[in-house]
Amino acid sequence: MTGETYAAAPDPYGLIGHPVDHSWSPFIHGMFAQQTGQNMVYRLYDIEPASLEKQVVELFASGVRGLNVTVPHKEAAVAFARELTPRAGRAGAVNTLILRDDGTLLGDNTDGAGLVNDLRQNQQVVLRDARVLVLGAGGAARGVIAPLLDQLVREITVANRTGARAQALCAEFHDKARLTACGFDAIPGRAYDLIINATAASLHGVMPVLPNGLISTYSVCYDMAYGRGMTPFTEWATLQRARLVCKGWGMLIEQAAVAFQLWRGVRPDTWPVLRALAQYQ
Ligand code: NDP
Repeated sequence: MTGETYAAAPDPYGLIGHPVDHSWSPFIHGMFAQQTGQNMVYRLYDIEPASLEKQVVELFASGVRGLNVTVPHKEAAVAFARELTPRAGRAGAVNTLILRDDGTLLGDNTDGAGLVNDLRQNQQVVLRDARVLVLGAGGAARGVIAPLLDQLVREITVANRTGARAQALCAEFHDKARLTACGFDAIPGRAYDLIINATAASLHGVMPVLPNGLISTYSVCYDMAYGRGMTPFTEWATLQRARLVCKGWGMLIEQAAVAFQLWRGVRPDTWPVLRALAQYQ
């Protein structure tokens, strides 16, 4: 007996995507773990689509307990889950994989909950009865439609550069009465309570050409993109004097908090992380 004590190895978690080097997730989960006293480590795994299945199997075989999933793997990750949560099933996309005690994987999608939590709790936005315009029909838009409908918004117009893709997305939902799909040029030119930019346009430094009159002084404009400074969308909204203009930092942190709770059974406080990341915004 040496009298030495050995600390248990931290439980491994991580993010799979391609690329992942820009990710804030290790920082966010690191703060959550410290705050809640969880013995875990969070790593980035840059995985190309061709080797995704092989590498995910290897990661879980090596002891990984859970993974976040980002672009371009969210839809492919559905196939790895033995079971999907209802919200992941409705989104047709998985952003969180949870290893269960029986060795199978549960697939969830926390993006919509992250957006709703940020809007309601951090931005104090009332969603009930809101008229919502979602720009984009890709993975991010797909993940937020059902959670917004669950908040009893009055209606959602989904507008996409490729109008047919918006129509295909809306057709997957049963709530036809509250959903309208169109191309950007056919958006009804009236002010919305909430406009969400779920396109990748901000990443390319462009603003889609939209009809006039979509913003009023009561409108909230939310760009899911996050990064330093203004985006073309937040500039567009600010110039038109929207009541509130936000970027997607809060959504990023809130979706991570939901994933963290799924993995560790403890809910982290997101405010310290929001404050810590404010300097990078
Ligand atoms: P996808 O690649 O799945 O979808 C991209 C969407 O953007 C499509 O609707 C596409 O339209 C549209 N688009 C791309 N380029 C342009 C352009 N130049 N002008 C107009 N529309 C364009 O991406 P995601 O849905 O996964 O991501 C979308 C955005 O959401 C990204 O900025 C991403 O960073 C952000 N995001 C933020 C999260 C957060 O936590 N804050 C979480 C998830 C995503 P088309 O169908 O015509 O090609």
